[in-house]
Amino acid sequence: MTTAYEVGVQRMRPFGTTIFAEMSALAVRTGAVNLGQGFPDTDGPPEMLAAAAEALRGGQNQYPPGPGIPALRAAVAAHQRRFWGLEYDPDGEVLVTAGATEAIAAAILGLCEAGDEVVCFEPYYDSYAASIALAGAVRKPVTLRPGASGWYEFDPDALRAAFGPRTKLVLLNSPHNPTGKVFTPAELALVAELCQEHGAYAVTDEVYEHLAFTDAAAPHIPLATLPGMRDRTLRISSAGKTFSCTGWKIGWASGPAHLVTAAMRVKQFLTYVNGAPFQPAVAVALGLPDSYYEEFRAGLQQRRDQLVAGLSAAGFGVLPSEGTYFVTTDITPLGGTDGMAFCRTLPERSGVVAVPTEVFYDDTAAGQHLVRFAFCKRPEVIEEAVRRLSS
Ligand SMILES: *Cc1c(COP(=O)(O)O)cnc(C)c1O
Repeated sequence: MTTAYEVGVQRMRPFGTTIFAEMSALAVRTGAVNLGQGFPDTDGPPEMLAAAAEALRGGQNQYPPGPGIPALRAAVAAHQRRFWGLEYDPDGEVLVTAGATEAIAAAILGLCEAGDEVVCFEPYYDSYAASIALAGAVRKPVTLRPGASGWYEFDPDALRAAFGPRTKLVLLNSPHNPTGKVFTPAELALVAELCQEHGAYAVTDEVYEHLAFTDAAAPHIPLATLPGMRDRTLRISSAGKTFSCTGWKIGWASGPAHLVTAAMRVKQFLTYVNGAPFQPAVAVALGLPDSYYEEFRAGLQQRRDQLVAGLSAAGFGVLPSEGTYFVTTDITPLGGTDGMAFCRTLPERSGVVAVPTEVFYDDTAAGQHLVRFAFCKRPEVIEEAVRRLSS
């Protein structure tokens, strides 16, 4: 992420190849078990796959409507009512996007003038910094650190200090990648208070909304459900993580019509539309019974436990993972200090790929000793990774 290229626009020069491309290429070259990138190695629900096959054989292969097909927008709205008690009008308050990534980019590009400030928590998902830079906006990171409680925390005063007269929005990801943190009610209340005090919007990345584990410090609470927040929040989610179809790139944004319209104005010229035969399939998936969501979470929680036990036995300092596909580890007990160097040599040394967390920080020193592992893999794959790390 820090490689300077001599070509292309100035504002994108700090962004080299994403760490995932580098580490996945390393995995292929060395035959290592790839616990770097967060994609599942099993398929999603069969009803959803059948619906996609049927849609593409049934001729749903041309441009869908700009905001997304009505059936999917209705399913997105119904899903949010069912799980979170949030009401959105499928006509005007829901926009289908090319994954959550496009929704985030469209929201930032559609809402931020050059020089506007975006408050976000670091370590952050790597597209955030790039989207903020593309908009000519300025990121104001607030650092999450493992606190005395053991959980990742932030300094409330640092969050207060990050807000100012140029704050346009806060970009909040909970459950949080890469830390696995689930923001607590008190933390969310402070974010909500500061948004209202400063007239800022919130853009929430909730792609892991169904992956807050039962032993998390708090259950997942959408920021939009807090008093005063529904009408200043653009809530983003995606099918990729919840239904194990990260390659389909079907996401959505929901919020008051003026925020959805701002994002749509940009989305229509980024991709126009996307994923015609996948849209009806995701509508089917969103309507699956609660048992699907419960089993999905229980399965990931089990694999988290499996990986955490293995990493601890191998000598890593394991930080708590309350949700998502990921767990972060401290390499200091293994004699490591530099996560980047550690991850670049781990495939050769141990036959496993992980991701250095420092690439997700502006304050790289805060994450230098941390390394992220993904557990969204089959139990036998995790077992093999653990065996290799322990030998
Ligand atoms: C995977 C991920 C995304 C991207 O979602 P897509 O739907 O694949 O674009 C966005 N945010 C976070 C935090 C993620 O982990």
